[in-house]
Order: sequence, then structure tokens, then C-alpha cells
Amino acid sequence: MSASQIQVRARIRPAWWRRVYPASFVLAGITALILWVAAADLLRQGSLGSVLSSGRAELAAPLLVALVVATGICERIWPAERRPVLARGHVQDACFLVLHAIVVIPLMTLLSVGAATLAEDHLPWIELRSTQHWPGWLIVPLTIVAMDFANWLAHYADHRLDPLWRFHALHHSQEELSVLTSFRAHPLMHTTGFLLATIPVVVLMPTRAIAPVLITIYVCIGTLQHANLRWTFGPLGRVLVSPAYHRLHHARDTQDVNLGVVLTIWDVLSGRGRFPGRGDAAGRTGLDGRPVPVEQDAATRPALRLMAEQLIEPFQTQR
Ligand SMILES: [Zn+2]
Ligand SMILES: [Zn+2]
Repeated sequence: MSASQIQVRARIRPAWWRRVYPASFVLAGITALILWVAAADLLRQGSLGSVLSSGRAELAAPLLVALVVATGICERIWPAERRPVLARGHVQDACFLVLHAIVVIPLMTLLSVGAATLAEDHLPWIELRSTQHWPGWLIVPLTIVAMDFANWLAHYADHRLDPLWRFHALHHSQEELSVLTSFRAHPLMHTTGFLLATIPVVVLMPTRAIAPVLITIYVCIGTLQHANLRWTFGPLGRVLVSPAYHRLHHARDTQDVNLGVVLTIWDVLSGRGRFPGRGDAAGRTGLDGRPVPVEQDAATRPALRLMAEQLIEPFQTQR
């Protein structure tokens, strides 16, 4: 074969169906099924609207909005990495914040309802009815700690299983970490987390609900971890995930450590905890080789077009 023939072959793109990554469509199908179960159940009860508004009250609470604004101000005063307010990474993550508010919050609410409905219908034997006599001060913290373990497990799976990693990689692709990066996530990244985190709630609290304010506080701690700050939380940082701790999980070369969502205990127990020192320099973040298109690329596109490419990326074979 001549050199020119080889060049022509290299330029030919494979047929579109050869570029499709089927596992991502399977996850999308499972997600659609859970959403359909939730919506059908809520419509039957006539409570779809009220459940969606209470989900919004928990996941977009004024406390969370205030935390994001206050953290943004702190990032300007004590940044781990100094960069302009309108850095490309910040603008792109702000687009994901809008997507989060419009699409992801209702999706999360329906995922938790759908997962609970499926568990109650098909796995009723997992419900521990005896816990209804346990005092709230014991059962509620126990359930939240178990939920945090389920979230850790889902995050671990995101890093170990290729079909899940394809959706999680977008979150890790950010090279300019800020509090807004908490919202830089593919909507389909949340399915496994909600499926797993529902189990401890159905097992331990089948007849009671966790107070919404506790869920909001949990979400707030999980949001603060992406802040562009060197904060280690001092001695509290041995237990709670701090921005400096989570930044080590976003290192360019390896993401095997510090998978904790709110508590560090699961990393410590699995030998994956690396605690940052107070004076440590802020390491670079992102993904080596940029497998997901990123805004920091020289040939960058307008923010919304790039966002569409980033959302479509998991459905294609790796670039
Ligand atoms: Zn991760
Ligand atoms: Zn993260």
C-alpha cells in the first residue's frame, strides 16, 4: 500500500454506528425506566407537582445558594489558583449550573422517588420495620452515614467501570476547579448514586423521612469541596471532605484516592485516603490527554456548543 493510500485511510472516519458506545445507551435506558416508574406513580397519586417542588426546596435551598455565593467571594480573596472571574472554566461550569437547576434537580428528585418505588415494590423484605421504634437521634445519623457509604461506593464504581467512567469523566475534565465545578456533571452520572443511596433509606427508615434541612446540609458540604481554596478544615478535615482533600482526587494523573463525598472514613478504611498538608501547593487538575473536549483547548467553541459536545461524548467511542 502506498503512503498516499495510508493517508487517505487515516482520514476516513468510521461509519457512525461504529462510533457509537452502546453501554451508554443502556444506562440512559435504565435511567428512563426509573424516571417513568416515578412519574407514573406520582401522577397516579396526583402529587407530581408537589414532589418536584419539595425536591427543588431541598436541592436548591436558599442555604445552598448562599453557600455558593459566599464561597465564590472567598475564592476571590483566598484563591488556591488565581484566575479571572470570567475564566473559561468558570463560564462553562456556570452553564452546567443552569442545566443543573433546570434539568438535573427534577431528574434527581424523580430518580430518588423511582428507586424507592422499585425497592418497595420488588424488594419489600429489605425494609427493617423494627427500626421505627428507634429514636430519631440514632436512626437519622445512621441512615445519613449509610447513604454516604452508598455514594462512596457509586463514586468508586464510576472510577472502576468504564461505562460509568465515561459519564464521570466530564466532571474530572475541569482544569480550573471552582465551587461551580460541583454542578459540572453529566445528568446520567447520577443514576447509580441515587439507586445505591436509596437502599439504606428503604432499609433503615421505611416509614419515616429524613428532614429536608439535613439533606440540604449534606449537599452543601458536598458542594464546598470543589472550591478554589486551600482549606483543609484543620482537625475536622480528618473526618469531613475539604476542598484541599477533594482537589487531590481531581489530580491530572491519578484519581484513585480521596473518593469520599462528605465523610473521609471510607477512603481511610479502603486505604485510599491522602490528607493534604496546610502549606501544600495546589496541584493541577483535569485529565491527561483531554479525552473529553474542554474549554481550555486552544480550538475551543462557544460555551453552549461545547456543552452539547461534552454531553454527547459518552455516547461515542473514546476519541
Ligand atoms: Zn471522581
Ligand atoms: Zn469532584
